[in-house]
Amino acid sequence: MTLPFGDWIVRQRWYAGRTRVLADAAPAVVTPLQPDLDHVLLDVSYADGAAERYQVLVRWADAPIDGFGDVARIGSDGDRLAYDAMYDPQAARHLLALIDRSATVGPLTFVKEPGIDLPLDAAPRVSGAEQSNTSVIFGRDAILKVFRRVTPGINPDIELNRELARVQNPHVATLFGSFDTQWGSQPCALGMVTAFAADSSEGWDMATASTRDDFTDFTEESRLLGEAVASVHAALARTLGTSTVAFPVDTALARLQTAVAAAPALAPHAPLIEERYRKLADETLTVQRVHGDLHLGQVLRTPAGWVLIDFEGEPGQPLDERRRPDSPWRDVAGVLRSYEYAAYQRLVDHSGDGALAERARQWVDRNSTAFCDGYAAVAGEDPRASGQVLAAYELDKAVYEAAYEARFRPSWLPIPMRSIERILSA
Ligand code: ATP
Ligand code: MG
Repeated sequence: MTLPFGDWIVRQRWYAGRTRVLADAAPAVVTPLQPDLDHVLLDVSYADGAAERYQVLVRWADAPIDGFGDVARIGSDGDRLAYDAMYDPQAARHLLALIDRSATVGPLTFVKEPGIDLPLDAAPRVSGAEQSNTSVIFGRDAILKVFRRVTPGINPDIELNRELARVQNPHVATLFGSFDTQWGSQPCALGMVTAFAADSSEGWDMATASTRDDFTDFTEESRLLGEAVASVHAALARTLGTSTVAFPVDTALARLQTAVAAAPALAPHAPLIEERYRKLADETLTVQRVHGDLHLGQVLRTPAGWVLIDFEGEPGQPLDERRRPDSPWRDVAGVLRSYEYAAYQRLVDHSGDGALAERARQWVDRNSTAFCDGYAAVAGEDPRASGQVLAAYELDKAVYEAAYEARFRPSWLPIPMRSIERILSA
């Protein structure tokens, strides 16, 4: 197969190599799925020696296919044209059918979860969401996420969703099936299909609508969200267990050091932050599997309640790290940070408006309180009772955000900086 994958992949929004110079993009494993449909694992190498593997489905055609945008056209091989088959409803349907049959095709293994009926006749459409993978929605029933950049190891999103579906937790999108392959001696997840939360809104959109609209009441939603997160934590603790560890002072300090290098504005605060972490050296934490990257953009409000999605853990971390048991306060802190983002972004262009800052602060306090109330009611344990540890997780997250904002979105750097100053003065 000789296709200009390199020219095509750099135009894809899920391409992760933008800061690097691409050296080569060549198919490593090609699996024919249908006469004109190939499954391709594409090895991309960079001038700096780094390498990544991507998943591409190639639809072959003799003539241009109407309705496929420029972004879907990979190129031609001889007189055949190649398209990104994720834009082809027929290809998406075929993937769903393979999962339905729990088929094995060459090195690819498709698995349907027990007792599931897949919407094989529903009309597929590619999700318009700005995301790092590609999702296809089937009618109102199912969403198939095809991973773009793939890595070896157990995928936490599939792993945790499988456990949560097994115990029928109502606060996740039920796992319907998945597909994977082997990469050397390791598994390599390629995609998953879950229940589609029809008529849902993203938590971030709802929260920012509230802060934009003069801080209208959001506390009832926050309380319900706290209950949902506690329910998911309790289910994960029951099925996958808990253990205890010392507060990871060294990890937190190392992360701080990395962040200070990226965001010099952190430097004056670093000694106080370090002191906060060191004080926790004797704390014992109960740890368990958690979401790992929870924020208001990872929760959907359906007519029935809140649903948590995307259990992939912290982006950019190796899979083993992401699967490491952690304190549930990591997730709680993630939501609390998200409230501050939703409120403080109102202040970005009004930094001198004290009254607005006060209203933003009160909105954060009300919603943090409601969230913790809801959490405590279900968990039987109140995050606020572990105030210093919770604050350390909030600091850890805010420090990470500061590094991110300093690099990519300097106008938002004041958001985490304001939070860090608040936490340190409390
Ligand atoms: P990102 O790069 O943002 O992490 P991703 O490729 O990991 O994206 P998700 O975060 O799982 O993909 O989903 C992207 C978006 O698709 C979500 O923000 C949500 O709007 C929508 N979505 C995901 N899963 C569902 C679902 N089960 N039901 C309804 N909508 C969903
Ligand atoms: Mg995501």
